[in-house]
Parts: sequence; structure tokens; C-alpha cells
Amino acid sequence: MASLQVFCVSNQYWNSIRVPKARTNKFSLGSSVIRSEEVGSLNLNKENDRKKPQILIAGGGIGGLVLALAAKNRGFEVKVFEKELSAVRGEGQHRGPIQLQTNALAVLEAIDKDVAEQIRDAGCITGNRINGLADGRSGEWITKIDLLTPALTRGLPVTRVICRMTLQDILMDAVGSDIVYNRSNVVDIIEEPDKVTVVLEDGRRFEGDLLVGADGIWSKVRSKLFGWKEAKYSNYTCYSGLLDYVPPYNDTVGLRVFLGLNQFFVALDVGGGKMQWLSFHKEPPRNTDPLGGKKKRLLELFGSWCDEVTMLIAETPEHIILQRDIYDRDMICCWGRGLVTLLGDAAHPMYPTLGQGGCMAIEDCYQLIVELEKVVESNSGTKMSEEISHALKRYERNRVIRNGILHAVARMALRMVSFYIPNLNFGWRIRDPAFHIARFVSGLVMQRMMNWIINGDGV
Ligand SMILES: Cc1cc2nc3c(=O)[nH]c(=O)nc-3n(C[C@H](O)[C@H](O)[C@H](O)COP(=O)(O)OP(=O)(O)OC[C@H]3O[C@@H](n4cnc5c(N)ncnc54)[C@H](O)[C@@H]3O)c2cc1C
Repeated sequence: MASLQVFCVSNQYWNSIRVPKARTNKFSLGSSVIRSEEVGSLNLNKENDRKKPQILIAGGGIGGLVLALAAKNRGFEVKVFEKELSAVRGEGQHRGPIQLQTNALAVLEAIDKDVAEQIRDAGCITGNRINGLADGRSGEWITKIDLLTPALTRGLPVTRVICRMTLQDILMDAVGSDIVYNRSNVVDIIEEPDKVTVVLEDGRRFEGDLLVGADGIWSKVRSKLFGWKEAKYSNYTCYSGLLDYVPPYNDTVGLRVFLGLNQFFVALDVGGGKMQWLSFHKEPPRNTDPLGGKKKRLLELFGSWCDEVTMLIAETPEHIILQRDIYDRDMICCWGRGLVTLLGDAAHPMYPTLGQGGCMAIEDCYQLIVELEKVVESNSGTKMSEEISHALKRYERNRVIRNGILHAVARMALRMVSFYIPNLNFGWRIRDPAFHIARFVSGLVMQRMMNWIINGDGV
């Protein structure tokens, strides 16, 4: 969009940008308005007879750690049980970078200003450059999305990309290793009217006032609550790669999604002289390539695409290329019962087409802590366990619509690729007029949707 080009200036410049103080960090998350300057005084020193609920968290991925941080900062006693610390990065060996969009960064600022600053400093700003969709074969832009204007208008941090390991290291440092129990695989939960017990694989048991299942798409807590169900295969597999490369368009392009029929390719600058790419291809699940055959296959699939795509594949060393199948689950409106709830991918795993799964987990954390604070403040005389149970339901109600919309849009975005008609170009640059109309409409709709997402509106 035109406004993006106006704002599109060098990366270096925007890295040093600070949003004017008076407008900083006002972020609307549903009915709550967060101002990070106020967070420090969020009842931390309030005299209250009621003890703060003891929070148990299954899973120390992005959601689990951010929740632990928010809880710790507000004086809650909290314990995180993580299956394997080396998987704390969220996706095991797939430790690629993650895009944290404005909405998630704003929430992080509200939760912990210092941590948010460390994340901002370690990240690479992409939201100040051109982001959008392009045709895979010609490389021509189809739709450009302005991520900068909505952020600046509201005085919110600009979207950036950060290495998952760096992100988790920052969060781990802030949370503390005394709170995160490593090699602690949650295998069972015992629900009682006034407490909940977590059972670990090695037989240890821990009691708390509530349990949050932040244990990802394959959540044990979710299956204990609602029974085991297979995740839904998206019909797409995803290859990813990371390479040392600074393209000539680096100062102007942040993230570009190249489209083709039944396949698409995402290329993004992740800072530090590195580019990441993700290539999605429609095929049956559990397909494997012969040893050393991933790059060959990718070049067969994408070999006729534009130079930006083929070059990134060709220059990536074979051993860096990873493959995984992409899954989500149907959206559910009930995330828990009694003293147990779910958060992040455990509650609402979504396709990565919007790059919002981790961001939504971070938003969930804020809302959950806001509701738990109300339990501590309450003087209603109701039993604490009942108040916690109501608080968890309020959290769920506040988060389910926004997450449900993003879940649906992420699915729709993937389906649309199955109908994508490559840019019709007959040599004389005569194009199907429908292409221009579709481009115009999709641009309008996508920009409005992105504004809604990154401004944290909804619910
Ligand atoms: C290809 C791809 C690209 C993506 N890109 C982005 C992006 O750019 N931006 C974005 O916001 N999101 C992105 N996502 C989505 C994002 O990765 C997830 O939404 C996010 O990691 C969810 O965080 P979580 O904490 O809920 O779960 P996870 O990050 O999966 O963490 C769950 C944790 O629980 C632990 N665990 C699991 N079971 C147990 C158990 N029984 N006991 C104890 N611990 C357990 C795991 O080891 C793990 O550490 C992407 C996803 C994919 C697949």
C-alpha cells in the first residue's frame, strides 16, 4: 500500500526509533486497556488477606514462560514443568526465528518492560519495510501490507523477528531456573474441588491452586481434560531453511510470501545477515525424502519460480533444510474445567499463515493474569477455588472470539492458496482483469484484517 512506501526507510534508522513517550504502550486487549507504566503498580503491594493462588504450568514454551513471567512479576507463586529444556524453544529442532508482531510486543511491554526491551533489542525490525504477497513465478507484488502505520498510529512497537532460542533465553533468564522444572514430563493431572495435582513421568507430584496447560499442540493436559484426538493435517508440508545472505532488496523488503498453485514460499530477513525461508507444498502427510534429497526435491517443485526463490533454496546447505508437516485442531470454545485451563497452542493451535500462533499465546497470558488478579482482589467471601474457576472461565470467554477469528482466517488463507491462479502473463503483459480486481479487494481486506490483529482489537 502506498503509505508503506512512504514510511519505508532504512532498517538501521527504524532500529533506533523510539515511539513518543506520551503515546507509548496503550494497547487495547478486549475490554482491558494496558498501559505498561501502570503495570508496576498493578496491586503488587496491595494489602490483602487472601493468599495469591499457586499456579502450576505444564509446558515451558513461549506461552508457558511468558505466563510464568507475568505471574512472578505480580507476586504469584508459580512452577513450570517442561518436558525437555532443549525443546523450550517451542519446536524442538525447528529452532528458526519467530515473527513477533505489534500486538505481542505490546503485551510483552505491559508484562515486563525490561524483558520487552531485551527482546526488542535482540530482534530485527521487519514491520517498517514492505511486507506482503507476490506472484511466485514473476516475483511481482500482488498485495503489500502496511504493518508500520497501524503500530505508529497507536504508539505500539513495530513488528520484528527474533531467533526462538534468543527469545527463550531472555524469558528463561527473567523467569529463573528455580521456577522452571526441566525434564519434567507431565503425564497426568488429578483434579479435586480445592486443588489440582500434576503427576510427572518420574513419579513426582506437585499441588497447586490451578493448572494451566501450555504444552503445545500435542497437549497432554488437553487430552486429560477432553480425551485424545488426532490433530488435523493441513494437507501442507513445510520445508524451512536459514542461510547467511543479505539480498540487495534487504532495506526495502521485510517478509514476502510468494504464491503458486498449491504451494507457497515465505522469505524473510531475520537480521544478523541471515535470511529464513519456509516453503509449503500440498501433499499427503509423512512424506519423506531420500537422504540428501530435500534440496533436489525443492528445486523440482520451485525450480521455475522467480530468482529470489530459487536462489534462496539453491544457496542453503542441505543439512540445514528441515521438513515438518503442518497441523492444527478444530477450534473449541471450552478450554478447561474447574481449576484447569489451556493456553496458546494447547487451546487453539492454528496454521502459521498469519504468523500469529505465538503472538496469541502471549496475549492469552496477559488476559489470564488480569483475571487471576481479580481473584486476589475479591472480597466477595466466595471460596478461592470457586473464584479461580470463574476467573478461568472469564479468561476463556475473553480470548475465544479473537483466537477463533484468527484460527479461521489462518485456515482460509491456506485454502486460498489451493485456488491461486498464477499471474496470467501472455508475453505482451495482457492480464486477466479479474486479477486486478482480486488484487485490489484482497489488499483492502487483508490490510483491515492486519490492522485489527496487530492493534489488539476484538473480543
Ligand atoms: C512453520 C511455523 C512458523 C511459525 N511462525 C510463527 C511466527 O512467525 N509468529 C508466531 O507468533 N507464531 C508462529 N508459529 C506458531 C508458534 O510456533 C506457536 O503458536 C507457538 O510456539 C505456541 O506456543 P506455546 O507455548 O503455546 O506452545 P509451544 O511453543 O509448542 O510450547 C509447548 C512446550 O510444552 C512442552 N511440553 C509438551 N508436552 C509436555 C508435557 N507433557 N509435559 C511438560 N512439557 C511439555 C514442549 O516441550 C514445549 O516446550 C509458527 C509455527 C510454525 C509451525
